[in-house]
Amino acid sequence: MLLRKLAENWRIYLIIFLALLALAIWSVYFKEPDNNLHIFVLDVGQGDAELIQKGNYQILIDGGPDDSVISQLGKVMPVEDREIEEMILTHPHADHVTGLVDILSRYKIDKIVYSGVDYSSNVYQNFQSAIKEKNIPVSEPKKGETEKVFDQGTITYLWPSNNANVYKENLNNTSEVFRFDYGNFTGLFTGDCEVVCWQQIINQNRNLISNIIFLKVSHHGSNTGSDENNIPIIWPKIAAISCGVGNKYGFPHKETLDQLQKTGSDIYRTDLLGTIDISTDGKNWSVNN
Ligand SMILES: [Zn+2]
Repeated sequence: MLLRKLAENWRIYLIIFLALLALAIWSVYFKEPDNNLHIFVLDVGQGDAELIQKGNYQILIDGGPDDSVISQLGKVMPVEDREIEEMILTHPHADHVTGLVDILSRYKIDKIVYSGVDYSSNVYQNFQSAIKEKNIPVSEPKKGETEKVFDQGTITYLWPSNNANVYKENLNNTSEVFRFDYGNFTGLFTGDCEVVCWQQIINQNRNLISNIIFLKVSHHGSNTGSDENNIPIIWPKIAAISCGVGNKYGFPHKETLDQLQKTGSDIYRTDLLGTIDISTDGKNWSVNN
């Protein structure tokens, strides 16, 4: 009797099964963002690219060394969203700017932040030409300038000073460094800031870089970006290092890892874990990878 009933209703069961399957596929491919703010340290190999995202609002910091950032963004941004509200270039080295040129041709970018430092590489010239061609508003923030972002977020620009060209002998020291506040959550984005840049920030704004929850470790974990002078001040709870598997520079350097271990930071590396996802509601936070 039961078997006969099951046999009679097979079409209904098939429809239910297909509907559930479609729902499962939909939820995987059309993942809608949750209500939290996310910082993604994107897996772009030997370079830097981070995305701060809440809902359909994004701030992209650097684009990595090639177009791999496109597929990484595809994995974390809502599929229908082709607009990035703000793009920040920390400095014009190829491992930071190259992917941004590809993004400029595929996404609508509302605003660009960079230091405007002079540098004559082809890829940087292409970046600047694309901005002009698309008529995208550009801002070169002054040290100490703040910007309201998201519903309860603030960016405070800490570096470079008014004219980045003073430091262009070592472009890493022209990196845009900024603090990001979201509720009680704090982050520090550092580009490839090295000793000269850190010295100035520590002298002028030590309190703004103290006791930070999330640190994008400077210069891919190089010992020229992290040392006993800056890590004990920052004292990060989460330290994210963006570097390529088996990179030729030996990043991250042992000295950097030792410093971070001394402060008790949880260390996350893109070469070991791929993309790192830090999620926060402004009070609590968690790391997923
Ligand atoms: Zn770099």
